Amino acid sequence: MEQWYCFKCKEKMEEGEVSLTYGDMALPGAFGVKCPKCGAEYLLEEFVLTQVNEGEKMLEAK
Ligand SMILES: [Zn+2]
Repeated sequence: MEQWYCFKCKEKMEEGEVSLTYGDMALPGAFGVKCPKCGAEYLLEEFVLTQVNEGEKMLEAK
């Protein structure tokens, strides 16, 4: 099982169901990660995409 960390406070995030609105769509019970410290919620898919984008930025900076 992979461990995820919050972007904001670097807290370990808990995997589970999150309730998010995505555009006009409500996504109750979507699977994602949630930060127990600041309450930030991410869809797991979205979270992964963001991490990939951050990685690409770091590569481009070199
Ligand atoms: Zn956090």
